[in-house]
Amino acid sequence: MSGIVESFAGKSREVDPFAEWVHALASARSRDEVVGVLSGVTGMFPCSRLSAVSLLNNKHTFYNIQVLRPSGVDPEFNSRHFSIATGMPGWVVRNRSSVIVDVSSAPEFHEDLEGKLREAGIRSLMLVPLQAGEDILGTLMWGSSDEGTFTQEDLSFAKLVGMQTAVSFKNLDLFESVDKKLTQIELVNTIAGRISSTLDLHELLSSAAEIIQKAFNFFDVTIFLADNGKEYLTLVAHSGSYIDFLPHGFRQRVGDGIIGWAAEHNQTLLANDVSQDERYISHAYHNTNSELAIPLSSNNEVLGILNIEETLINAFDKTDLIVLETLAGQLGSAIRNAKLFDELNRTNDKLSQLDRMRSEFLGIVSHDFRSPLSSIILATKSLLRRETVRSDPRVAEYLKIISDQAMRLNYLAEEILSITRLESGQLTYHFKIVNIQTLVDEAVSLVTFSHKHRLEYSIDPGLVYIKGDEQKIRQVLHNIVANAVKYSPQGGIIELTIAEHPESMILVSVRDEGIGIPSEKQEVIFRKFGRIESEDTRGIKGSGLGLWISREIIRAHGGEIWFESEPGNGTRFFFTLKKAQ
Ligand code: ADP
Repeated sequence: MSGIVESFAGKSREVDPFAEWVHALASARSRDEVVGVLSGVTGMFPCSRLSAVSLLNNKHTFYNIQVLRPSGVDPEFNSRHFSIATGMPGWVVRNRSSVIVDVSSAPEFHEDLEGKLREAGIRSLMLVPLQAGEDILGTLMWGSSDEGTFTQEDLSFAKLVGMQTAVSFKNLDLFESVDKKLTQIELVNTIAGRISSTLDLHELLSSAAEIIQKAFNFFDVTIFLADNGKEYLTLVAHSGSYIDFLPHGFRQRVGDGIIGWAAEHNQTLLANDVSQDERYISHAYHNTNSELAIPLSSNNEVLGILNIEETLINAFDKTDLIVLETLAGQLGSAIRNAKLFDELNRTNDKLSQLDRMRSEFLGIVSHDFRSPLSSIILATKSLLRRETVRSDPRVAEYLKIISDQAMRLNYLAEEILSITRLESGQLTYHFKIVNIQTLVDEAVSLVTFSHKHRLEYSIDPGLVYIKGDEQKIRQVLHNIVANAVKYSPQGGIIELTIAEHPESMILVSVRDEGIGIPSEKQEVIFRKFGRIESEDTRGIKGSGLGLWISREIIRAHGGEIWFESEPGNGTRFFFTLKKAQ
């Protein structure tokens, strides 16, 4: 490096300050810092009174001059914009060549630039382009009060300075864009996190549009959703400069315009210069030069479009595209989830409405059943007590059947009524100290055992008093013992035990040798109307309500209910209740 510098710079200049300058340039982290470092090199031409840098805008239509070394020249042109069609810096950019000229005979003379320099006594100029490879970024310019002071040697050195500076600017642009992309990728992660945790479609899309627009500083971001028939796209979320012009609800036909095309073909459409794209539909308020429409799809179905508009031509690069397409993919799945969630909610609402109607109906029916049933039970029981009736075994047998069946019906009506009360919060409890031994006896007497079953029970006499609602505990006991009989159709022993349990509780258990319950059905059987449909249960009648009600009752008593089972070998139900203190 030093060799090259020497050969360009000649003997009169020292190598070290230049090397230091190059080093400083390489460590500059912003355009301002580069300009600052650049000022340090201006003194390298002892003959110059003025040095200035001019930088082109993105579209290369004008340049902006910044004076690096104020030198008695009152540069009115400082920070002004000049068209590249005018002034010497414009000439250098257009011709991509370096030049030494006398101000008065400059090939391009602008009154506000060269005119002002001449007024300030500048006679000759030296200009070099800021060029890195094919890219031209602007010019460097030096001025002297004498004519013919700049030499070819100076020009060679100036070219080198120009090249180094351009490379620095270029690196800085790359560095900034990598930095920007990193920040954007981080933001994408944040957005993705937020998106996947929202199931409210409206909130999801509004926040996505806003975050994308703000994070990338885009001019305008809109999100459209496709209708089910894929005929129209409707604007549902908007953030950016056109917000006052395009209201929510704005519709565009699929197939029309940039977004319509992207939706129809389920393909990203990048129009980096919309004036060159015949699909582009211009609106009166439009200031758009680039547009990017990305389909929001899931399982190959287009659900909507993410549409981004920018005022610059070529506003979107490859990285933007990758980042935004990734984001759109996540947005697509999130929309699908939110839609499914919506549907699920609607179905759930319908189901709970149906459930409520069914409960209400059952409540009314069972309530109206109870009085006639009570009359039948009473009447049959009093008939059965009569000697004349009992002396005729057939009459007695039939009356017994009527009484048993009426009692079962009554029990069912009771069960259904409990549910409707439970659901409406009207089930009231009357807690008192009760003898569980008596409740077991009463509950067992209501169960119809077959000759194949044998009931065994052992109750610790020290544990018979509990705190509870008599009628409801009886109902639980009855349900569990009746189930033990029902679900052991082949017969066997049914064992009821009551034992001590920690924390002043008792543990009631009812064991049978029946069909058992598969472990994966644990949850099902405690649900309302939850029954196991299998070969073994076919033909066994039931409502699927008993265990649900039992669990509600036990929990209201501060206890818990569960079971252990071995399919094919029987089941043991357990529940706990509080001892009377
Ligand atoms: P029901 O017996 O009226 O169907 P339950 O709520 O009392 O309703 O019971 C729910 C389900 O749990 C039953 O349908 C049955 O499949 C299962 N189940 C209950 N108790 C037993 C048991 N002891 N053995 C096997 N399965 C049982």
